[in-house]
Amino acid sequence: ENSKVTLAEIPEGYSGEGFMATKFDQVIGLARANSLWPLPFATSCCGIEFMATMGANYDLARFGSERMGFTPRQCDMLLVAGTIAKKMAPILRQVYLQMAEPRWVIAIGACASSGGIFDSYPVLQGIDQVIPVDVYVPGCPPRPEGILDGVLKLQEIVKNESLRRRHSDKYKELMAGYGIQ
Ligand code: SF4
Repeated sequence: ENSKVTLAEIPEGYSGEGFMATKFDQVIGLARANSLWPLPFATSCCGIEFMATMGANYDLARFGSERMGFTPRQCDMLLVAGTIAKKMAPILRQVYLQMAEPRWVIAIGACASSGGIFDSYPVLQGIDQVIPVDVYVPGCPPRPEGILDGVLKLQEIVKNESLRRRHSDKYKELMAGYGIQ
């Protein structure tokens, strides 16, 4: 007796063990989220906490972000840590514009998020006045755990972000609000 399975008997799709159905969006999101390359823009005290976050005790490398870059074109996660003077704002914006899409931004600490204690005419009252921000980390300064939490929150955003988001009208609208085409 011929016990061979015929082609017609094999059902459509993959239903056997060892196969997992998923969406292309999710695979890309997972890969991106676990390989974010940080670009530190550290100007003052919060920058020291970021250095601790990269050190052995807190070890940001555990989350796939050990490869710090100092050229915007090789990075996709801009970490702004510290007080940003208004004179620095155009430079921060230029650095952001030099990063390739998709790019994400974390404002580390009160100064980067809102100007912090420096409610003063030379200080930018939050980097979201010049570039869009994805995650705000509170604290003056935030502890390294807080910075790690910010990166993990960003990973969730990246994981769940549809590839279509960057081409959506809403995204273009957000960028247009910052004068970015
Ligand atoms: Fe320094 Fe506090 Fe501002 Fe961070 S938030 S840069 S610790 S003053």
